Amino acid sequence: MTDVFKLDLDTPTYKGTVSVNTGLFIDGKFVNPVKDDSKIEVVNPATGKVITSISAGSEKDVDIAVQAALKAYKTSWGLKVPGTERGRILNKLADLIEKNTDEIAALESLNVGKPYLVSKHMDIPNTVSTFRYYAGWADKIQGKTIETNESKFAYTRHEPYGVVGQIIPWNFSASSLAIKLAPALATGNVCVLKPSEVSPLTAQKIAGLLNEAGIPPGVVNIINGYGNTVGAAISSHLKIAKVAFTGSTLTGRKIQEASAKSNLKVVTLELGGKSPNIIFEDADFEQAVKWAAMGIYFNSGQVCTAGSRIFVQESIYDKFVNALRQAAETRTTQIGDPFDQATQHGPQVSQIQFDRIMHYIDSAKNDGANILIGGDRHGNEGFFIQPTIVTDCKPDMKIVREEVFGPVAAVIKFKTEEEAIEMANDTSYGLAAAVFTENNSRAIRVVHALEAGNTFVNCYNAIDINVPFGGYKQSGIGRELGEYALDTYTQVKAVHVNLGLKL
Ligand code: NAD
Repeated sequence: MTDVFKLDLDTPTYKGTVSVNTGLFIDGKFVNPVKDDSKIEVVNPATGKVITSISAGSEKDVDIAVQAALKAYKTSWGLKVPGTERGRILNKLADLIEKNTDEIAALESLNVGKPYLVSKHMDIPNTVSTFRYYAGWADKIQGKTIETNESKFAYTRHEPYGVVGQIIPWNFSASSLAIKLAPALATGNVCVLKPSEVSPLTAQKIAGLLNEAGIPPGVVNIINGYGNTVGAAISSHLKIAKVAFTGSTLTGRKIQEASAKSNLKVVTLELGGKSPNIIFEDADFEQAVKWAAMGIYFNSGQVCTAGSRIFVQESIYDKFVNALRQAAETRTTQIGDPFDQATQHGPQVSQIQFDRIMHYIDSAKNDGANILIGGDRHGNEGFFIQPTIVTDCKPDMKIVREEVFGPVAAVIKFKTEEEAIEMANDTSYGLAAAVFTENNSRAIRVVHALEAGNTFVNCYNAIDINVPFGGYKQSGIGRELGEYALDTYTQVKAVHVNLGLKL
């Protein structure tokens, strides 16, 4: 028997019980890991206190899950199940997640520290919409017929890979899971997914809905555990044909290495960023300030596309920095318990992330940058950090070059368009970039010159499920979301049919 975690919450925004099974989900059942005593402590980042423990898998558990997935692929999923049926099941899963929105949102907030109203009105609706979006694609996966010569015809099939491994981070624990599972299942693959060890609770809840949705046993397996055990076992398993990863560039590199050393599995990577946000003097000033603040402070800065390098044209620099400072001050008044109505800004997810961010702030100070506002812990408990602005930055400072993954904006002055583009592209990352200007031809010219996979004109982080998402340079390989994700979950088979050619 596996354990169930149950907690009654009586908060200003969520009143009710949250409950999840703490076991591994393999072959349609919650089970204990092979090493029965392996546990991961789950921490509430708003208090720093342990909420519960969940089972941690090992290499052996991954192997058991892969065998279950292989069996399911051959008997009850893959192209054996028509796309219309796969779509119907994914829609049912979306309905069940939607029905449980409040509880899943409460788990996201309890475990990740996100304001409950954001989890409820953004994260979980996005999770639901992602399943619905790919449910719609499931019966529209089509190849082509290709003319060759009169005695032959050829066509292509877009076939699933079989077992895909999926490894996700903690910052959007529910919607990341949907972005991985939904296109994989729509295209007929079966999945072994590892949530982040930091944020396992929403995945556990969704795992508990899979049977009711009609997903056959073995089609989705959810194995909690650490990166260097479960994650490494997924990336090197010989029967996993593809691995899709979201997380840091450092880990992405390890996954690619493990794939190369095992069976050359197809690897798609969604990695980190140090994204530039360029504000020209002719921008709509008020809007630019608001978007820039949202671009760096949303989700307490824990967004892969965070606009963490803000380039501001010389003539408006002082005025802009002052206005951004006011936005940071306002944001500081909105820090609080994730379950309070007025909270807009929650804690960092863990002690490790808290320490990492403080280390970057210290490095900025030591390198001679100016901490204009923030730069400190907020409150006495939990992992809260004040919204921070760093000015007087030089291009070679760590605070300008490395991903902080926290509420820390590095603001940098520029003179000309050419200089802004050059500084913006002076990074090993290429996840996102934005430009603010009322001059349309400049907007298009600059956005085309920026080396990034997700670019924004006069907005920031305006991401849609039906638009592809992914990184240039060391921010990733492949695309998720939109129709493009279907390509990364299918392989093309060419079929040549002889209509009468004799030898
Ligand atoms: P992380 O790389 O530490 O961990 C991500 C996942 O990888 C976790 O599940 C972890 O357990 C696993 N992992 C760790 N070591 C592993 C190994 N050796 N082999 C296999 N798996 C391993 O990242 P994180 O701290 O969870 O998330 C923050 C990072 O994720 C940031 O760099 C952020 O930019 C990035 N991110 C990118 C996107 C995107 O879409 N591009 C989205 C969200 C987060």
